[in-house]
Amino acid sequence: MSFIIDIKSMTPEEMSVWLKELGEPPFRAKQIFKWFYQGVTSFEEMTNLSKALRQRLSETALLTPPTVARKQESRQDGTIKYLWRLADGNCVESVLMRYQHGNTVCISCQVGCRMGCAFCASTIAGKVRDLTAAEMLDQVLFTQIDSGAPVSNIVLMGIGEPLDNFDTVLRFLTLVNHPEGLNIGMRHISLSTCGLTEKIDKLAQYGLQLTLSVSLHAPDDETRSQIMPVNRGVGVEKLLETCRRYFNRTGRRISYEYAMIDGVNDADWQADLLARRLRGTSAHVNLIPLNEVEESPLKPSRRVSAFQKRLERQGITVTVRRRLGGDIDASCGQLRRKAMKREGP
Ligand code: SAH
Repeated sequence: MSFIIDIKSMTPEEMSVWLKELGEPPFRAKQIFKWFYQGVTSFEEMTNLSKALRQRLSETALLTPPTVARKQESRQDGTIKYLWRLADGNCVESVLMRYQHGNTVCISCQVGCRMGCAFCASTIAGKVRDLTAAEMLDQVLFTQIDSGAPVSNIVLMGIGEPLDNFDTVLRFLTLVNHPEGLNIGMRHISLSTCGLTEKIDKLAQYGLQLTLSVSLHAPDDETRSQIMPVNRGVGVEKLLETCRRYFNRTGRRISYEYAMIDGVNDADWQADLLARRLRGTSAHVNLIPLNEVEESPLKPSRRVSAFQKRLERQGITVTVRRRLGGDIDASCGQLRRKAMKREGP
């Protein structure tokens, strides 16, 4: 019984080594790699390969294209949300957002999530499994193909914790960055983490020029540990120290995400503490109006602009995230939740 190869998760370099073992010349790898980016879903469509090789590939390698389980398009701003059905029946979401600086796709990296943040829809039923690099790549490719919108930016801010699927996420980055593939520069990629400090240190070693977003959501341990269990063993101070190390190593300014929750993290003293803790570091705070999640009692704050002004007065660079796709549940995890409730997990 031979081993089935996840060929679309391979770099062309790895593919050519593997093809060599099958007695094929190395340039076949480039041909196959290019076909992937044309959006083919079977080896049969790769018409510049011999029939024998196509047959061989169908027997030894796996292609797992997702299908569109649901699609919602915002009438307000053209945002499109996809619920993809993966080959094993699990579902994940991606969102296409149209910005002046280019089309951005937000992708998922796990089926579910095990981080347990209190405000997040993706984590309610826990983590089912990690995605493969091919499954992450396919979200970008098929969003592009289905929508007809060329994607120039990627954000890893969908379902799952990217640093909890570290090696695969790195492989995905190599693939989308590859000149023979989508050729998306690292500066056009953002990776969002709930703050796994050891993994942030590990990521720093690679010196990638992507943007690291850290989901902070509270400046004090009591609040942060209450809404983000990941904080319990670490604490805000150690997280921010890790972030400073990350900046020193990569030279890349960190973006701190802060979802504004009514009566939880939106008090003046929390703005002051946040400003104090971030002062002197190269940071940017992104305030996010909380998206309400049906299963959660947490409500959006009404103090976003007061909080913003208070931070700015203390010298912190702040932006407030513009809400896109407000009419289509565009916050990640919600579409999958709805589908799960309809169909059962
Ligand atoms: N696991 C990663 C990436 C996925 S979540 C992380 O924690 O960063 C992407 C961003 O959306 C995070 O900043 C997350 O905290 C935020 N988020 C999750 N649920 C939200 C909600 N209901 N409203 C607003 N932001 C939310």
